[in-house]
Parts: sequence; C-alpha cells; structure tokens
Amino acid sequence: MNVYENYDKYIMKTYTRVKPAFVKGQGSWVFDAEGNKYLDFFPGWGTGLLGHCHPKVVTAIQEQAARLIHLPNNYYNVLQPELAELVIKRSFPGKIFFCNSGAEAIEGSMKVARNWGKDKGRYKFVTTFNSFHGRTFGALTATAQEKYQSPFKPLVPGFSYVPYDDLEAMDKAIDSETAAVILEPVQGEGGVNIPSKEFMRGLRELCDKKGCLLVCDEVQTGVGRCGYWFGHQHFGITPDIMAVAKIAGSGAPIGMIVAKPEIADLMQPGYHGSTYGGNPLVCAAAIATFKAIEEEDILGKAKALKEKFDGYAKRFKEKYDVVKDYRGLGAIYGIELKVPGAPVCAYALEKGVLANCTHNVVLRFLPSALMTEEELDFGMGVLEEGIAKL
Ligand SMILES: *Cc1c(COP(=O)(O)O)cnc(C)c1O
Repeated sequence: MNVYENYDKYIMKTYTRVKPAFVKGQGSWVFDAEGNKYLDFFPGWGTGLLGHCHPKVVTAIQEQAARLIHLPNNYYNVLQPELAELVIKRSFPGKIFFCNSGAEAIEGSMKVARNWGKDKGRYKFVTTFNSFHGRTFGALTATAQEKYQSPFKPLVPGFSYVPYDDLEAMDKAIDSETAAVILEPVQGEGGVNIPSKEFMRGLRELCDKKGCLLVCDEVQTGVGRCGYWFGHQHFGITPDIMAVAKIAGSGAPIGMIVAKPEIADLMQPGYHGSTYGGNPLVCAAAIATFKAIEEEDILGKAKALKEKFDGYAKRFKEKYDVVKDYRGLGAIYGIELKVPGAPVCAYALEKGVLANCTHNVVLRFLPSALMTEEELDFGMGVLEEGIAKL
C-alpha cells in the first residue's frame, strides 16, 4: 500500500501534509513506521495536554469500548452527568450540551445565544479579527480572517468584527440587537495573542451594561491549557456561555457547550441534537482526562512550563535579531519572528522535532504539560539551530 499516492488518489487536498506517516504516539513522542521518533511540541493539534496515549485515558477507552461504545441521546447515559459535574465544578454554575468538535461547540453556542435573544430582538454577533472559531458556516463567519472565508461567501448574516483587545471598538460594535460577543481568552491560531486583564474585565462589564452575552471560545485555551481549568479564569471573569473541545477528550472527539442555567434552560426538546454527542466512549475518555489533570497537578505543570519557555525565548531574543517577541500563558506559548517561520519548522522536522508556525511568523507551542526538562531542552535546542539559520 502506498500511503502517499493513495492520499492523492482518494483524499481531498484540504491540508498541506508533511511526511512521514506516524503510526504510534507516547507522551511527547510520535513514531513513524520505521521506528524513527520525533519530539512533538504540538501533540494532537492542541488536544494533547497529557501527551499522546496517556495510560489513564487509554485504559478508560479500552474498558469503555468493551462495555458500550454508543448510546443514542434519547436514553440516559450514566457517564454524561458524571462528566458534566466534573466540568461545572471547575468552571461556573451551568448546564452542558455535548457535541463532537470545536466548531460544533461554537455553532451550538451561537444557537443557544440566539435562542436566548429571540424575544429580545438580539441576534447579532461581534467577533474579533484574527480569531479562529472553526470551519462550519457559522463558525467560519465568526472567524474574522479573509483567507478562510473568501471561497465560501456569502456567509451567515448578523456578524461584525472588531480588533482584539480593543474595548472602544467593542463598545461601538455592540448594539441593542447584539446577542453575544464571541472571543478566545487567548487567540491561538491568530498568533498566541493574550489580551490585557483590563480589556477582559472591561468587556465583561460592557456586555452586562449593554445586555448582551459573552461567549468564550475555550476550545484551545480550556481544560488546563493556560494553567487554569479554563482560560477566562486567568482574567477573573466568567462568560455566559463557553465552547470547549480539544483537550477535553485527549483526542477522542468531544465538544461541549456550557451555558449558565437561566440561558441553558431556554433550550427546549428538539432545539439541538447530535447523534454521537457525548457518547459513552468519548465521555469515558473525557472523564479520565479531567481526573488525570487533577491527580497529576497538570495546571501547576502547565504554569511551570511557561517559565521554562520564557527562559529559552528570552535568550533567543537576545541572541537572534529575527526574534521579535515571545509570550505565553501556561502551556500555550508563542515566539514571534520578524520573518516567516516555515523554514524553522522544516529544519526541526528533519532533526526529529515537530513544531508549528501560525500566522506565518509565530512559532506556536501547545506541548504536553508532562514534557520533561530533557525533552524541552532537546526540542528548543533544535529550534534554536533552526532560528540561527534564518
Ligand atoms: C481548533 C479550534 C476550533 C475548531 O475546533 P474543531 O474541533 O477543529 O472544529 C475552534 N476554536 C478554537 C479556538 C480552536 O482552537
């Protein structure tokens, strides 16, 4: 079987893929068929805060797969309330709808917000430039980046966009028809942009004053990534609705819409649904993930990782003129270059390190919080060589 040829033959070319094909993962490492290993700074595209194939998650999936894989949502599933309680007790009082992905969590959040706003004449959404909210039509419309939107216009009506971290622009954009502001507590894909606490607190007050909802897209920042259970907690604010996915299932496809009870309770039977949403298999993976994060002090480890990254990044900036800036929150970290970062990632791949570059110039790290000091040192050493070559 020729994997690469058959990709060309049978699979849409929506991704720029890099070789080799990986067949196994363990912790911060992935392996190709020949047994070559690569250090992964981006395990599972942001889902792997616990690394690849964490034993507690693997065991939970194996046991659940043998017991019951799927159950339709018109029956009670004993795992959903157990998982929901784990989430709610670590976030804010609310109720959950389970879905399968980040984009679906955003889509559903917008339905919940419009349903809340329908008697108030509130149906519009305000989102931010350089945001990323997913690829389905509503989520794509929320994603204020021309490169993702342009082939698919016309998009969904009712959206306006403002610069990130700009309270004045928010103030101007929110009107009496606004249902919700949707934003990431840290813009991930947009370049690891961390807003000020003043902005986030001001935005919370603004939404309250103007009578619209605040939806946090916690798909990338949630479930421990930022060194808090959820990214918004760093800013000392609480959203009305949040969208969760990625780390929640450690790679098992699960998403969640979490809404304050008075908003959640407006959703009636038939208003939303999902065949797979929160099935026993993914719930088992998510429960194991939440428990492992707690048991292994992953929040503390994510916070500590940021300090270590700062050490490397500070040194890189002093040493190499091409390094413009660095920033992070817990285990999400960005090193911004003055030039495109793709050659650094290509060099790293050659040397057995998987790195990501977003927004053309930002080396983005979404590592496992369990990455060891030796692993980090090896990986950053290779990246330094790549940066030195620019
Ligand atoms: C990844 C991501 C999404 C989309 O999630 P999918 O599971 O790919 O649909 C939405 N929002 C943010 C912030 C993300 O990082």
